[in-house]
Amino acid sequence: MKKIIQYIIFFIIATLFLTSCSATSHGFDKSFYRFGTVVNLRFYDKDGSAAADRLLQDLELLWDATAPESELSKWNADHTSPLSEKTLHLIQQSIEISQITNGAFDMTLLPISRLWGFQEGVHAVPKNETVESVLEKCGYEKLSIKEGSIIAPEEVLLDLGAVAKGYAADLIADELKKDGCKACVISLGGNIRTVGRKPDGSKWSIAIRDPKDTASYVGTLHFYGERSIVTSGSYQQFFEDNGRKYCHIIDPKTGFPVLSELSSVTVICSDGLKADAYSTALFVMGRDKAIDFYKNTSDFEMILVYEDGSVEISEGIASEFQLNDSYDTLTLSTIERGNP
Ligand code: ADP
Ligand code: MG
Repeated sequence: MKKIIQYIIFFIIATLFLTSCSATSHGFDKSFYRFGTVVNLRFYDKDGSAAADRLLQDLELLWDATAPESELSKWNADHTSPLSEKTLHLIQQSIEISQITNGAFDMTLLPISRLWGFQEGVHAVPKNETVESVLEKCGYEKLSIKEGSIIAPEEVLLDLGAVAKGYAADLIADELKKDGCKACVISLGGNIRTVGRKPDGSKWSIAIRDPKDTASYVGTLHFYGERSIVTSGSYQQFFEDNGRKYCHIIDPKTGFPVLSELSSVTVICSDGLKADAYSTALFVMGRDKAIDFYKNTSDFEMILVYEDGSVEISEGIASEFQLNDSYDTLTLSTIERGNP
């Protein structure tokens, strides 16, 4: 029911938005609903929205774990249904990221996510014993790839929700570039990807949402070039029970939703798949382990936003980030990568 209401509200807003859409030097916007989220596209020259929507429909048919007819659901049902090259790539990358994040990222938590009601949207706090017994059936270490097939015990089920949108944004960017699009911004929920360079020569400005007030932002990144900027946080999907907040990101070590001093983690990276997977993993790790991971991994930058209103940014983007000065409660500090 909640989903239906969300759809109706979205379509009213999108209809108003689309009819008011026009080409200006600031670009023109197109929006639609796919992948369980609002897709916003801003173009500056060629309108690539039809090509992007077609591709997203194809990708939904591959990775939507809630649709029984998707490629992933069919594989989850029998473990023998064939998987496309794109899906195999996503799974292979996910296994590698699970390894380097020491299991903070784990695509096998579907049964746990279902237990907490995050897949169906009917939330409940399960008994500790139930969580423990379901968790025993999960774990990326149970997966292997042999001759292009995924091998796993029957009870292992895959959920690509934490990487699919990031990879989809990469694929859309490639498609639009092939189609002749020279400058655009792709936004799939919290997954943003810039393509090319703005025709007026100005920098991209990407706002980082305030987890406490999602209509506002904690700061803005200003930069040139192509990047993925992906945010994960406890504010995106959660429920409350007995005064405790339970979010949709699960700690694979405990099977419980992550409870953290962090409100959100934003990852900035040239690769959307990685940015998406890292943002989920860093949120699971929490501050100290996230900083250790940053110091030992050279291919991303990050913005950590805390429950108490403080913001930490990594040194590689320090000169590009501007705190929202309409707040006087936010504090900003920089994390050095140093020489690992
Ligand atoms: P969103 O997709 O809402 O933007 P994320 O990218 O952080 O946010 O992905 C969260 C989704 O990933 C959850 O809804 C769940 O399906 C799955 N998930 C939850 N915990 C983990 C985890 N530790 N590792 C990998 N996937 C997870
Ligand atoms: Mg993610």
